[in-house]
Amino acid sequence: MLRRLIRALFPRAMERIEAESRTWMMQCPNCGYETSVWEAGGMRYKGLGPVYRLGRCRDCGKIGMLRVYQRGDPDR
Ligand SMILES: [Zn+2]
Repeated sequence: MLRRLIRALFPRAMERIEAESRTWMMQCPNCGYETSVWEAGGMRYKGLGPVYRLGRCRDCGKIGMLRVYQRGDPDR
């Protein structure tokens, strides 16, 4: 996986990417279920990356365009 490669090559950079990725949320258009980009296996750094992302919702299981947005509190 790309994340593992980056972590191996640039461990310090990966910490920043992880911290930032955790502030970005993805919301299911079908049921409203939210998860962080990081927990979903993705990365987003310095505002780079998709604003919408095709994916399968963990809650309702439907595939759709998940809305990606940044939430207010970066530390949780
Ligand atoms: Zn859903």
